[in-house]
Amino acid sequence: MTAEGKTAASQFLALTADYLTGGYRRPHALGFEGDVFLAGPLTGTENGEAGDALNNSPKREADSLEKVAEEVQRCAGCRLCEKRTRSVAGEGVREPLVLVVGEGPGADEDAAGRPFVGKAGQLLDRMLASIGLSRQKNCYIANVVKCRPPQNRDPAPDEIVSCSRFLSRQIALLKPKVIFCAGRIAAQTILHTATGIGSLRGHFEEYSTGGVFNETDRITTGIAAFRIPLLATYHPSALLRNEDLKRPAWEDLKLLRSRLAELDSIYARETAEQP
Ligand code: SF4
Repeated sequence: MTAEGKTAASQFLALTADYLTGGYRRPHALGFEGDVFLAGPLTGTENGEAGDALNNSPKREADSLEKVAEEVQRCAGCRLCEKRTRSVAGEGVREPLVLVVGEGPGADEDAAGRPFVGKAGQLLDRMLASIGLSRQKNCYIANVVKCRPPQNRDPAPDEIVSCSRFLSRQIALLKPKVIFCAGRIAAQTILHTATGIGSLRGHFEEYSTGGVFNETDRITTGIAAFRIPLLATYHPSALLRNEDLKRPAWEDLKLLRSRLAELDSIYARETAEQP
């Protein structure tokens, strides 16, 4: 089978798996002529016994971050598996205030198997720390694609399509209070748009699975729904290349801090105690 054939077969299998786990796909604006999946997939936990009884189907096994990580580790869903050293599922706390989403692993992350550990990652950590956030305490950090694109190129639309099912499951499992997108690719992928980062940043958008928000319908149809505030800013790598972007990025961080203070009294108390 040709490389293109393998990719197409893999995407078909991914679509089928998403369908079977209750996900759905929506039109994507990044140039791929298919759809990208970023829905709230059903799990045993999400769907619950009531949903399974109503659907007259066997109870599904509960999803977990560990399962996502295991699947990412052995995934050959797109061509990025061919040159990776290690896949990078993500890391952080289980019930994060903030899910930080980047583009994909770079060389340092590929070697370490951890997200955002190179120079850009160190800057990201400092940015988060400036508003009382960290991956050790109250954040989870993941990427749109879990394997390194060669030569640090942008992930291709078909690679994003193949990999997005992992991010959607992570969002459903983590249920962060806010999604913070580091850079254009993450924001465009999650928001299903081709709008540039200059226009996407500076205000809150909303991540929505498009599922039903009525609890009775949710149990009947089994489609879980999430609405999560989403803020995008420039990727830390862009800030390292262009000092002029640091001021608007700081404005974005202040916006994030304000929203978290509104949403979470614990966060407000912790950050108020900072020097
Ligand atoms: S980038 Fe994602 S879809 Fe592609 S091989 Fe890695 S884990 Fe699988």
